[in-house]
Amino acid sequence: MSKSYHHFINGQVVQGKSGRHSDIFNPSLGEVSGNVALASTEELNSAVAAAKAALPEWSGMNPQRRARVLFNFKSLVEANADELALILSEEHGKVLADSHGDIQRGLDVIEFACGIPHLVKGEYTQGAGPGIDVYSMRQPIGVAAGITPFNFPAMIPMWMFGVAIATGCTFILKPSEKDPGVPLRLAELMMEAGAPAGVLNVVNGDKEAVDAIINHEDIRAVSFVGSSDIAHYVYQGCAAQGKRVQAMGGAKNHGIILPDADMAQAVQDITGAAYGSAGERCMALSTVVAVGDRTGDRFIEAMSAELGKLNVGISTDPSADYGPVVTAAHKQRIKDYIQMGVDEGAELVVDGRDFALQGYENGFYVGPTLFDRVKPTMRSYQDEIFGPVLQVLREDTFEGALELPSKHQYGNGVAIFTRSGGAAREFAQRVNVGMVGINVPIPVPVAYHSFGGWKRSAFGDANQHGMEGVRFYTQTKTVTQRWPDGETQGAGFNIPVME
Ligand code: NAD
Repeated sequence: MSKSYHHFINGQVVQGKSGRHSDIFNPSLGEVSGNVALASTEELNSAVAAAKAALPEWSGMNPQRRARVLFNFKSLVEANADELALILSEEHGKVLADSHGDIQRGLDVIEFACGIPHLVKGEYTQGAGPGIDVYSMRQPIGVAAGITPFNFPAMIPMWMFGVAIATGCTFILKPSEKDPGVPLRLAELMMEAGAPAGVLNVVNGDKEAVDAIINHEDIRAVSFVGSSDIAHYVYQGCAAQGKRVQAMGGAKNHGIILPDADMAQAVQDITGAAYGSAGERCMALSTVVAVGDRTGDRFIEAMSAELGKLNVGISTDPSADYGPVVTAAHKQRIKDYIQMGVDEGAELVVDGRDFALQGYENGFYVGPTLFDRVKPTMRSYQDEIFGPVLQVLREDTFEGALELPSKHQYGNGVAIFTRSGGAAREFAQRVNVGMVGINVPIPVPVAYHSFGGWKRSAFGDANQHGMEGVRFYTQTKTVTQRWPDGETQGAGFNIPVME
């Protein structure tokens, strides 16, 4: 049955009126499974009007009542997790267990946001001066918007709207046009959980909707996650308009293997981190730096054997390790990068380009691919491939290995595999990357810490979720007060000094 997705504005499904649509695929089958309406500027504006109208009541509600809505939402998402995971797997291509993980990582942020009464308590100083008290409060910034990528259609929207709504903002989500089914369903569940109409709106669209978000003067904060060029575009546009903006971009995450690493464990960890979700994760570990030639030889031998056991299948096959990539165009892009690696002189140890799944020959599958002896000067190393392709570089020294992720244009995540506490500590201190794993291949911080990379992996100051998320969606107001005590003080012409 072909699906047709529209918008969710002011508490109800609103049919798209622009006349523009985008196809949705089932990547496992390689077939169109439906379409999604692409919003015009006017349609986006109508969602902003709904969010603005809902703001006074929602932001004025006491925080524990908002938290109750989030508690209800969490229970509803849990109760509907199987349905959500199926939609997610069918539209994205990741396997069901991974879709459940996508949902759970989003729910972790909702759980964090349920603690919002504690998180927005503010600060108070009694007696900051004679008869003077000072207090600071965190007030919601207002109407906020989120623009999200295709690869985590549950987790990343929840990173954003979970914290925004908890703090008292109202929200417009512009999800990826490739897999809008889950974000739309989440908005319905938020209403069911008790959020008033207009608190969470979903507007489907493309560049036109994104530009309308950047340019709308009633939107005070914009959170973006996607590829770096678009992140930079959104960052610049929003900053020029005086909006608060955080814009997370692409990645090239390195796994450094020191000679003393537990190689068997490292190979297991890296297999999952490189090939899970067909490598379509911003925290995928797509690059290995083997320190010492012996380490490189051992790794390549063990990883080649491991790849022979990987099971690529349709996204609903419980025995599949990973499924197809998201679109035919993305599959072609990955294959082009593999060819580029060959042309640049890297050693192609395992080639996944000709992989075909019996019975699903039209699906967007790419088999696991492994390159050895990749060089930092190669473009296939410098760019993000975002597919099931692992590139191995060899370095002689710790310093050389430290330099590679540190100098790379992206600085999202990095991992080091070693038994040496001293080496790991030094690496974590010195590496020029935002999130570091020590014998942990995908160091995505837990919800009550904050997520964010460095360099071209993130533009703007504030990270996602945790206290940085709370700060992003709130603004601090500081009140300095004195109450009449019957004595009139003379005019003060100098800057007041509290003594
Ligand atoms: P994308 O940049 O193509 O799309 C992201 C969003 O931007 C979507 O909502 C899309 O509709 C919109 N968009 C696309 N083209 C646009 C344009 N020309 N103008 C304005 N808006 C536009 O990214 P994607 O392919 O959906 O997602 C994959 C990328 O996201 C990868 O680069 C990945 O590393 C990155 N990512 C980063 C993080 C992180 O936290 N750093 C997390 C997940 C994904």
